[in-house]
Amino acid sequence: MRPSGVPDETATEAVYPRADPTRVPSERDHAELARLPRRVYHLRMLGMGLAGVAIASVLHELSAPVWQWVLLFGTAIAWPQIAYLVAARSRDPYTAECRNLLVDSALAGLWIPLMHFNLLPSLLLATLSTVDKIAVGIPRLWLWSSLGMFIACVVAGVLTGFAWQPFTSMPVIVACMPMLVVHTIAVSLVSYRLVRKVRRQNRMLDELSRTDGLTGLAARRAWQDHAAQVLQQRHAGGAAASLLMLDIDGFKTINDSRGHALGDEVIRAVATVIRDRIGNAADAGRYGGDEFGIVLPGVRYRQAVQLAERLRADVEDAVLPGAAELRVTISVGVAEAVDGHAGLRDWIEAADSALYRAKSAGRNRVAGPVVMPIDAMHPVPRPRA
Ligand code: GH3
Ligand code: MG
Repeated sequence: MRPSGVPDETATEAVYPRADPTRVPSERDHAELARLPRRVYHLRMLGMGLAGVAIASVLHELSAPVWQWVLLFGTAIAWPQIAYLVAARSRDPYTAECRNLLVDSALAGLWIPLMHFNLLPSLLLATLSTVDKIAVGIPRLWLWSSLGMFIACVVAGVLTGFAWQPFTSMPVIVACMPMLVVHTIAVSLVSYRLVRKVRRQNRMLDELSRTDGLTGLAARRAWQDHAAQVLQQRHAGGAAASLLMLDIDGFKTINDSRGHALGDEVIRAVATVIRDRIGNAADAGRYGGDEFGIVLPGVRYRQAVQLAERLRADVEDAVLPGAAELRVTISVGVAEAVDGHAGLRDWIEAADSALYRAKSAGRNRVAGPVVMPIDAMHPVPRPRA
């Protein structure tokens, strides 16, 4: 009868962290579970209390026998305490609370015939009880609770002879109002909080999916979106734009000989060099494994080559904290956007083929498109001191 009840964030996994049975509970879930009985306790007290007012008004009209008043006391006052103690002492508060919710529904079913099917309170108990079970988000809970409610209703009806007095008087309507109003407002508040939480989490997910976890640079997809925009602006008559594709030389050997953890360090170190060198961090992205892309809005080819050369030299000079003796180098392909680059793919292909040429020419160097040879292929690999 927690309909009467107010759904808390019962609708959220914050209260019923195991609402998704496929999810492995985390430490946080366990902490939530430990707090679950107390959180539900207050809501059950409020819900049962408000329902108790409505039921009491009907019992008063029916001049109900004492045992029904005692039962009402048990339902509205004693049951929430018992439910709390059972759940709090249980080794599995979640399952205990699920059982308690079913008892709530059975109590609702029990009171309907005892109120002689008084229309408004009976309807409210049945409906709000079901709404709560749906809002909790536990699969099929509402079905089981409806079944429990129905059975309790039939049993109590058989025992009391199915007395039928569905008319609802004005005093009973008034007594039902607190339950109706509080429940409705509570459901709205829960939905409001849920919507805000989902929005916040969506923003976080979006942020996460746009950032590369290892380097903190833009993830491939986000970087591609940005690069495509820059190309579009260039084609729309905006400023020139250039593209650098960078790849770490002999990275497999580093991985194989020094382990993946150091390989990751190397990737992070190259990303740091990139971040330190370029003005806008959003221009750089991790394109894949040991390959990076940098889009340079407003930068012409020659200037792009100079930046690429500085990056190449910076990486060559970089010292890894965990492996000071390790010499890391990169090869860079440069391509300025031209009218022939209909889409981002063409532009990336141009920079990629330049990168391929830099690799073929011996690595640790910068190369441009064939038609745009730089003053040679910027070799200048300097011996390390
Ligand atoms: P080249 O000079 O021609 O670039 O040779 P390479 O050995 O660097 O070859 P390639 O660029 O193809 O190597 C990429 C390797 O990067 C292959 C893959 O196992 C490894 N890799 C991809 N992602 C990660 C990662 O996140 N961490 C680590 N440690 N290795 C990665
Ligand atoms: Mg490589």
